[in-house]
Amino acid sequence: MASSDVTSLRISWLRICERLKGEVGDVEYRMWIQRITLGPLDEDEITLYLPERFLRDWVRVQYGQRLQTLWREESSVVQHVELRVDKRAQRTPITTETVSAAYGTHGASTDIQSLAREDAAALEKETAVTSAPSVNEVRNDLAVPLDRRFTFDNFVVGKPNEFAYACAGRVADHPASPGFNPLFLYGGVGLGKTHLMHAIGLKLMSRGNISVAYMSAEKFMYRFIASMQSKSQMEFKEQLRSVDVLMIDDLQFLIGKNSTQEEFFHTFNALVDAGRQIIVSADKSPSDLSGLEDRLRTRLGCGMVADIHATTFELRISILEAKAKASGTPVPPKVLEYLAHKITTNVRELEGALNRLIAHADLVGRPVTLESTQDVLKDMLKAHERRVTIDEIQRKVAEHFNIRLTDMSSARRARAVARPRQIAMYLAKQLTSRSLPEIGRKFGNRDHTTVMHAVNRVSELMEQDPGLAESVELLRHMLES
Ligand code: ADP
Ligand code: MG
Repeated sequence: MASSDVTSLRISWLRICERLKGEVGDVEYRMWIQRITLGPLDEDEITLYLPERFLRDWVRVQYGQRLQTLWREESSVVQHVELRVDKRAQRTPITTETVSAAYGTHGASTDIQSLAREDAAALEKETAVTSAPSVNEVRNDLAVPLDRRFTFDNFVVGKPNEFAYACAGRVADHPASPGFNPLFLYGGVGLGKTHLMHAIGLKLMSRGNISVAYMSAEKFMYRFIASMQSKSQMEFKEQLRSVDVLMIDDLQFLIGKNSTQEEFFHTFNALVDAGRQIIVSADKSPSDLSGLEDRLRTRLGCGMVADIHATTFELRISILEAKAKASGTPVPPKVLEYLAHKITTNVRELEGALNRLIAHADLVGRPVTLESTQDVLKDMLKAHERRVTIDEIQRKVAEHFNIRLTDMSSARRARAVARPRQIAMYLAKQLTSRSLPEIGRKFGNRDHTTVMHAVNRVSELMEQDPGLAESVELLRHMLES
């Protein structure tokens, strides 16, 4: 086959991938489609490889028809799609050159560019981890090791997480007590859900003789499907149903897989009926998780549902203080404040930034200072640089407080309108690099002193009124994510 034909096949495949990604969503895309390797074309039949039999079968059942249709639409030659298993199928990443060839240098959508980047990154990861256990190998060990650092003692408690923390503690002390089974923990990325689950598991196991199974919903699904393929379903079920505590992390990834949801539902009922504890985490509450079967949703919501809110500035400071103290390297309060201001969405990143500072200080043998911080974290902070626009801020704030967008620039001074307007100005100052006069102009040509007053006033109010502080943090969070 001439190389230009190969290129055009790869371009077709790239387009098909992009369309499938749009159709099935990120999670399923990564789980199934991204594992497909493009094979050779033979007459009018294109071969696609998958590394495992069960993957091949799953893709065939779920996407076989769609793949064929998409190929026929993309290519004048391909009429049939053959799915084969080949463990050695070498994936070559989709490069930016291929993307440019497909779309011209200017035409490629950002989606497809990021697809190419993702593809290259995924490949790099796959080749790096050469001895990753196959699904069949990990099938039998239900108890994924828990991270020893994720204890209750190491968890910093503040307003946003105190309820979830208390519920987790209660379950660790009295598993399967009425009203707390299941325990459903939910909240955004990096806010401590996994940490709390591990803390429960560690505490229970420290009291001996309790079997705890912890796994991500994704793993649960893999194992379930693998057990179907190897006809060891009964064994898998029995294993699951023999544990005292079952924890499923990131349940949002189970959504939409009907047979796995069904299995989870039955396991769930069997365990609860037998007086065992179930703990589930997700990024949303049971009622907000879309794609969940109703009976499962109902079941999940009938124990204790606890949410972890976005961190407040105060909590971020406490977390940083605790971690800095544990490290033994002195970090000035100014630096902690700076970090807590700059990195607001995710505790994992906050922790990462601090670790980097400490490692750097140890390495060069100089103390951590504000200057060294800005220097060491330059790239990281750039990624956090707010590219939020004032228009966006006005829209989100108006929506949040249920006022008209035009009131952001109107002359109305009623508190119900003026306060949200001040909050929007405050956020504009915090999240954009616009000057006070520029911000003023965007808010109905107000003077820069008005903006300054708004910024100061909102800062003051946030200290006095936790409800308002939480609203502002929430808005900031939404605007930045
Ligand atoms: P999630 O599962 O909600 O995405 P994780 O539990 O993985 O988040 O937390 C991310 C990181 O942040 C972990 O290293 C965890 O130890 C840390 N972390 C999160 N919240 C806290 C907290 N309140 N106190 C101490 N560490 C925390
Ligand atoms: Mg997690």
